[in-house]
Amino acid sequence: MSTSALPDTAALAERARTALDRCRVDRPRETAGAAGAARTPITGQELFPLDHDDTASVDGAVTAAHGAFTSAWRDTPAPVRGQLVHRLGALLREHKDDLAELVTIEAGKIRSEALGEVQEMIDICDLAVGLSRQLYGRTMPSERPGHRLMETWHPLGVVGVITAFNFPVAVWSWNTCVALVCGDTVVWKPSELTPLTALACHGLLMRAAADVGAPADVHRVVLGGREVGEALVEDRRVALLSATGSTAMGRAVAPRVAARMGRYLLELGGNNAAVVAPSADLDLVVRGSVFSAAGTAGQRCTTLRRLIVHEDVVEEVARRVVDAYKQLRDRIGDPFEESTLVGPLVGERGYTAMRSALERAGADGGEVLVGGGRRLAEEAGDAYYVEPAVVRMPGQTEVVREETFAPILYVMSYRTLEEAVELHNGVPQGLSSAIFTQDQAEAERFLSAAGADCGIVNVNIGTSGAEIGGAFGGEKDTGGGRESGSDSWKAYMRRATNTVNYGGELPLAQGVRFL
Ligand code: NAD
Repeated sequence: MSTSALPDTAALAERARTALDRCRVDRPRETAGAAGAARTPITGQELFPLDHDDTASVDGAVTAAHGAFTSAWRDTPAPVRGQLVHRLGALLREHKDDLAELVTIEAGKIRSEALGEVQEMIDICDLAVGLSRQLYGRTMPSERPGHRLMETWHPLGVVGVITAFNFPVAVWSWNTCVALVCGDTVVWKPSELTPLTALACHGLLMRAAADVGAPADVHRVVLGGREVGEALVEDRRVALLSATGSTAMGRAVAPRVAARMGRYLLELGGNNAAVVAPSADLDLVVRGSVFSAAGTAGQRCTTLRRLIVHEDVVEEVARRVVDAYKQLRDRIGDPFEESTLVGPLVGERGYTAMRSALERAGADGGEVLVGGGRRLAEEAGDAYYVEPAVVRMPGQTEVVREETFAPILYVMSYRTLEEAVELHNGVPQGLSSAIFTQDQAEAERFLSAAGADCGIVNVNIGTSGAEIGGAFGGEKDTGGGRESGSDSWKAYMRRATNTVNYGGELPLAQGVRFL
C-alpha cells in the first residue's frame, strides 16, 4: 500500500462534518482549546477540538432524564414507546451510510463491518418494537381460594450507558432501544474516542422523538472520559448502570454502584477460544478463524484469541491459517478502501500492548509463525497498522490468559476433549467460544454443563459475529451481563409480584392462623 492511499486528516474531518450535516445533527462546537477532541485512527490525528462535559453537566443530564421518566415516559404505554424506536429504526435505515462513515472515521472499521454495525442497530430496533407488545408477566395459581397471583414488570428509571470504542453505536442501541421500550430514560457516555458517532445517534433519536411527540429528555448524551463516567456511576438516580469496556473498568465501576444499591450490567473483556477436533471441516476452521481473529484488527470483545487444535491436525491447521494470513498482508490499510480487510488499531496503546504480548509469548517459548510487524510506519505517523499475528505456543502461559486487544492468535494443541475443555476454560474471561467438529456427541459435550463455560458457545462457526436475537454477554471476568435479545429486557425493568384477593375472605398463606 502506498502513502497516497491513506486519506489526509483534513479530508476525513470534512467527511465527518458532511455525515453529521446529512444526519441533520447539530455540529459539535469546534472550540480551540476545548477539553476534548474528535480523532481518527486512520491517520492518528485530531479531526477537530470538541467540548467535553463536566460533572455539573452530567448532573444536569441525569436531572433532565429523571424528569422525563417521572413526568411522562414511565406512564406512556409500552406500544406507544415502541413507536419512538420504530421511527428511530426508519431514520437509521435512511442514514445507514452516514453513520457507517463516522464509525469508520472514528473506530477505523472497514466499510463492510461499519455498515454491519449500523445494521445491528436497525435489527435491534425491529426487535425492540416487537418487544414493546411483549413485556410479559406470568400468572401463577395461588394456594389461597379467591386469590390471583401474578407478576408485572415496571420501568426502572434512568439507565446510564457507558460504551467502549470498538462498537461505538451497536452496544448503545442494544441498551437504548430496549431500555426505551421498557419505559426507562437513558444518559449515554460514549467512549472518548468516538464522540461524533454518539452525537449522530443522539441527534437521530432526537429527530425521532420530535416526529412521534416523545419528550426530548428521554435521552441525553454526555461526552468525556473516565471522570464523566464516574459521575454517572455515583449518581443514585441512575437506577441501572450498563457499562461496556475492559475488565479493569468493570472492577472499578461495579463495587461503587453496588455500594449505593444500584443495579449494574457489565459487558467486559473476552479471551475467546475455538477447539478444533480431528473430524473438523478444515475449510470452515480456516475461514471462521481468520474472520474471527483478524477481523476488526483483533479489536472485538469476541475476537478469537486462542485456537486449541487436536494434535493430529494442528500442523495442517497452523499451516493453512498462516497461508490465509499471508493473503491479508496486502490488505492492511485505509479502511475506506474496498480491498482492505484489516484497518488500523485504535491507537498506540493497542500497538504497545501487541508488541509487549509478542515479546512475552516469545520468552515463554512461543514462535511467531506469521505477522506481528507494523505496516506503513513511515507514512502513517501516529496511526498504527499491524500485521495480524499467529503464534504457536507450547502451552497456555500467563500472556495467553490475558486479553490483548490486538490481532494475535495463539495456537495450542490437545490430545483429549477433556484436555481441550480444560485449556479452553482455563482463563479468567468467559465470553465467546466455539468448537469445530463433525462429531455430534463431541459437540454436545462441548455445549453441556461440563463443556465450555462461556456466555456464547458455538458449533462450526467462529467466536465473533453474534446476532441480536440471542442474549449477548459472558461469564467470569466478562461480567455476567446479558444484552440484546432473548429475555435480556428483564434487566431494564423491575418485577413486582402481585397478589389480588377477590374472594371476600382473608386466608393466610402456609395455613397460618392469626386473629
Ligand atoms: P475501556 O475500559 O478503556 O473504556 C470503556 C468505557 O469506560 C469508556 O467510555 C471509558 O471512558 C469508560 N471508563 C473507563 N474507566 C471508567 C471508570 N473508572 N468509571 C466510569 N467509566 C469508565 O475500554 P475500551 O478500550 O474502550 O474497549 C475495549 C474493551 O472493551 C475490551 O476489553 C473489550 O473486550 C471490551 N468490550 C466488551 C464488550 C462486551 O460486550 N463484552 C463489547 C465491546 C468491548
